[in-house]
Amino acid sequence: MPELRKDLMTHKWVITGTKTEEEFMQSLRPQKEIPDGQCFFCEGNESLTLPEIYSLRKFDTKPNTKGWQVRVVPSKSAAFKIEGPEGKIGHGIYDLMNNIGAHELIIESPKHIKNISDLPLEDIVRVLKVYQSRISDLANDDRLRYVLIFKNQRPQSPYRYGHTHSQLAALPLIPKVVKEELIYSRNYFKYKERCLFCDIIRQEQKDKSRIIEENSDYISFVPFAAKFPFEVQIMPKNHNADYRRETESSLKNFAHILKLSLSKIAVALNDPPLNYVLHTIPYLRPVQGYWDTIYKDFHWHLEINPQIVEITGFELGSGYHIQPLLPEICAKILREAK
Ligand SMILES: [Zn+2]
Ligand SMILES: [Zn+2]
Ligand SMILES: [Zn+2]
Repeated sequence: MPELRKDLMTHKWVITGTKTEEEFMQSLRPQKEIPDGQCFFCEGNESLTLPEIYSLRKFDTKPNTKGWQVRVVPSKSAAFKIEGPEGKIGHGIYDLMNNIGAHELIIESPKHIKNISDLPLEDIVRVLKVYQSRISDLANDDRLRYVLIFKNQRPQSPYRYGHTHSQLAALPLIPKVVKEELIYSRNYFKYKERCLFCDIIRQEQKDKSRIIEENSDYISFVPFAAKFPFEVQIMPKNHNADYRRETESSLKNFAHILKLSLSKIAVALNDPPLNYVLHTIPYLRPVQGYWDTIYKDFHWHLEINPQIVEITGFELGSGYHIQPLLPEICAKILREAK
């Protein structure tokens, strides 16, 4: 069973042991192109995945059969397992933890389509609603602290990873990256009594040079200090900490700007592999009151990172990023991409 181990030098938790030796060695061998019709995620192959946890499907169809629009299944190589005791365990000077949680795959279309931006708008809205439903459902498990929704899009990949899907990790702790954002935005709010993210949006609207697109509810821009070339952030323009609170009409505008931003990246950069992550508020437990101002100081957002440059020894050794292209130039290229 996989474990969470803490690195005492960096205070980072590492998830280890998610594959057996055999599975890992197998994954190093070149992956073959899947024969037609044998993708795990395509409609008709429901028996090739683990049984579904949730789906949006035609009303007269049964789970694990055809007729779905979005399907959520557990990952076979889950980094987290729903069963087992929670809590930290000591091992000499080291800390480790049972990897309580869930690792789910959100299959975004019954058809073998590679990129989410190639789906029709209403299909993307459905996916965005499923994100909300899963975060709400998992809130009932009080061992969980955070649900991270993310996507590893690999358009050039053979095998099933070429079929558009997102992933969900429900975690027993708040990830370090999110915790840092929560702390910095809370500190900013304490000092200025304003939301950091709302202030960033206002500054971007004033500067204009890093904006890619805006609609009535959302803005998409290259951050002032983007860590990677063509990093893009999408934020709701109306202050909201909790992604679950977005309405259907707002999700339509979110789907629209997401599709547009991803399409522009695909066109401008020759369809690169990319990741995106959704950062919303954590489940507010078990220290009620600790996040007193969270609904005012945090603001959910989505971060997109095309993978077009390698992480070098400098980044690994220093924690600093060298980002060769000015964010304003990245934004101009994306803005003008048709
Ligand atoms: Zn497929
Ligand atoms: Zn805000
Ligand atoms: Zn973030």
